[in-house]
Order: sequence, then C-alpha cells, then structure tokens
Amino acid sequence: LWNKEAEHLYKVKRKDLLGTNGKGLLSPEIERVFSQFDYEYLKNPSSFPRLFTLQLQNQEEQNVFMYKKMLQRGNNRWLVSSAFDLTESEHNRHELEKLTQKYKMVIQAVKLSTWILNIPNGKITYEIDNHIIPATALPITRMVRMTDSLRYIHPDEQKKIKQSFQDIIEGKTEIYHEQYSCKYPSMDRYYWFESFAVVSKRDPETNRPIELVGGTINIDERKRLEADLIQAKEKAEESNRLKSAFLANMSHEIRTPLNAIIGFSSLLSDTDDKNEKQEYDRIIGKNNELLLQLINDILDLSKIEAGTLEFTFAPVDINVMLENLEQSFRLKMKDNPVELRFAERMEYCVITTDYNRIVQVITNFLTNAVKFTPQGSITVGYHLENKEKIRFYVTDTGCGIPPEQQKKIFGRFVKLNNFSQGTGLGLAICEMIVTRLQGKIGVESSPGQGATFWFTLPY
Ligand code: ADP
Repeated sequence: LWNKEAEHLYKVKRKDLLGTNGKGLLSPEIERVFSQFDYEYLKNPSSFPRLFTLQLQNQEEQNVFMYKKMLQRGNNRWLVSSAFDLTESEHNRHELEKLTQKYKMVIQAVKLSTWILNIPNGKITYEIDNHIIPATALPITRMVRMTDSLRYIHPDEQKKIKQSFQDIIEGKTEIYHEQYSCKYPSMDRYYWFESFAVVSKRDPETNRPIELVGGTINIDERKRLEADLIQAKEKAEESNRLKSAFLANMSHEIRTPLNAIIGFSSLLSDTDDKNEKQEYDRIIGKNNELLLQLINDILDLSKIEAGTLEFTFAPVDINVMLENLEQSFRLKMKDNPVELRFAERMEYCVITTDYNRIVQVITNFLTNAVKFTPQGSITVGYHLENKEKIRFYVTDTGCGIPPEQQKKIFGRFVKLNNFSQGTGLGLAICEMIVTRLQGKIGVESSPGQGATFWFTLPY
C-alpha cells in the first residue's frame, strides 16, 4: 500500500520498503513514533485519528493527520495507516489565524464594531463587538433584528437611515455611509455613531444583494470636539467682529473729544473775551477728561484681557471710601438738578479688597446713573446680604433699561443709545473686576422707572 504520497512524505521508495519491516529505512525518530502509534492504536483504537507534528531530518516540521484501521483478510490481520500531509493547509490555517488576529486587533484599535446584515431575514449579526455603546447601556446582543436596531435611532434620522439601507439593498448605491445619533435603552442621552457597509453577497440568479458587511464606530467624542471647534470658530469670528466694531467705535469716540480739544484750543488763543475764554476752557477740560477716561478704559480692558491687571488687597474702610466718592461726585454734579443721596450704610465696615477697583466700579455705576438720569435722584448704599456677602447698589430714577437688553449691556462695546457719550466698555470692565473679586454683578430695572445696578463682594 506504500503509495506515491508515502514515498514523498517519508522519502522512502516503495520498492525498497515492500517486503521489509522498514527497519533502518525510516529515520529513527519516525520509526519510534510509528511503532509507538501502532502500539497505542492496538491498545486504544479510539485514540485515532490524530493530528501530530513530525520532526523531519532537515529540521522541517510536518503536520500529519493519521488514520488507522484494522482489516481482516482471510487469516491475516492488517493494520492500515493513512497519513495525510497537512503541512501546507496547516500553514495556511496558521497564516489565516495570524491575519485574523491582526485584523481583529486593528478593528479593536479603531473601536469598530463589525456586523453582517442578512437581507432576506433582516437580522444583523455582530462579528466583533467593541462595546461602542457606553458601559451604562445594554450590551449589544450578537444578533439583533434590523428593525429593532433602527428603533433606537433618533426619530428625526430614522427615515434617512432606512432610505440609505434601502438604496444599497436595491443597488442604487455602492456604499452605505451614515452618521446618526442613537439612544439605546438605559442610555442617558443620544450618542453619535457612524456606520459603513458594502454588499458582501449577491443572489447568483438575480444579482440582488443578499448580505451586507459593515462597521459602526462611536463618534460621540469626535462630534463633541467638532461642536466645540465650531463654537470656538464662531466665538473667534464674533470676537473679531467685536474688535472691528470696537475700532470703528473707538476712532469715532477718540476723534470727537480730540476735535473739540483742537478746535477750542485754537479758538482760545483767538479770543480776548474773558467769558468766552472761560467757556472754551470748560469745554476743553471736559473733553480732556473724556479722552482720558477712554484711554483708561481701553488700557484696563487690554490689561484684563492679557491677565496683567494687578489687584492689590488691603483692608478698606467702606464708609471712608464712600465719603471720598461722595465728595468728588458732589463737585461734579454741582450744576445738576439730580439729587445725589448716600443712603444706607453700616456703622462700621472694613473688608479686605482692592480699594481702587471698587471705587472704579462704583464710579462707573454713578457716572452712568448721572448720564442717564435727567431728573430725580441717584442713591448709593450698601448692606450685608448675609453673613458672608456684602451688597453695593446705585439706584437712579433715569430712563431705565428694557428687560431684553439687561444682560447685553455687560457685554463689551454695547451702548443702547449710540448718541450717548461713552465707550460701551464700562460695565464689561466692572463685570470682570467684580468676578475677579469673587462677587456678582447685575441690574434690576423697568424702562422709564430708573435702574438699580448692584454688585456683591465676599464679607
Ligand atoms: P458706557 O461707557 O457707554 O456708559 P457702559 O458699559 O458703562 O458703557 O454702559 C453700557 C450701556 O448700558 C450704556 O451705553 C447705556 O445704554 C446702558 N446703561 C448703563 N447704565 C445705565 C443706567 N443707569 N440707566 C440706563 N442705561 C444705562
């Protein structure tokens, strides 16, 4: 029975072997293994067939599948051994395994969940499940019905996804590729996914697709980053727009007092009239002040933006601070019909804060109040809101601010009335200062009834 394959496998010619017991022809190792196998088979026939590796003389290994059977012929009993050289197919199987392993690793690395859709029965089988769905959710079972899976997709997107599947199934498209949000049971919200699929099997007769192979990836993080980026871009554009608006505004604001200063300075030298001189002098002084305020605002703002505005903390006697403010404002308002009241205050109050910055905020409130209050009164005061918080306020009886504008006015360069004097920066600076001092700022107002601007500080 020593056939050609056996000659090839064991490198022993049939003519050399027949009639001998093979001793000395085969390698000692093979001979040893074979006699042991014969012995093992006779002892326990169910230990065959078996797959084993033979060490060949040339250091190579051979994968052999061996099958044994006892045959009775007349009075003779024959032990028939069939050995199949599986080296090549074993090698291929190995390579395939290695490849599959690599493929699985890559797929796992990119967090792809692969699946197969059986079109006739509408079932999806997950091949490699990467737990693309957060841990809180139900794990995907290995096989789900397509219709069940679609149920979790956001209602707004279901139609689109179904249509895309329909298109590839009907051969209208080659690739299914969609992004959608999905909320599986016990998920707290919708998560973003991206899926791809191609036709992997067709009906040989009709050529219609009968199977799709695809992959799904969780792109929630990417979507979030995308949204953040878009927001950042919009913010950058908005800030760019504001900067341009700022420049346009600023040029106008700077030019107005400058023109007045230049114009009235030359008029001043042209006239000898004492009254006229006095009037020009007053106008120049007022515009100097305005220009200075403008420059200071811009400097403050850019310092705050660059994070270089220094804060100096020291104990501040609030009553002394308010008295100083009162003096300077009474002086400024001596020809103003509006009554300035310094009302509510504590008997004694010292807090550790930045004196200049607090004065800056209250001054800004007061300057605005004066600007927007043609008659009536302006009241300044403070009280303890609770044990840890002190609240300052400036109330006026001026034009007030419509509710929808109240949030806006703390933005930069915001002026509700373009004809009013000012840069639109004051309140934005105040908000930054108060925030830095760990307080809050706000306004309460009803249009026509005046406004109360307030801020709190830790006490
Ligand atoms: P500005 O330097 O232009 O006054 P602010 O930031 O201080 O800039 O104020 C922004 C805008 O808020 C003002 O232009 C005005 O329209 C509105 N505003 C501020 N304070 C008052 C107030 N007391 N009464 C009415 N409107 C006010």
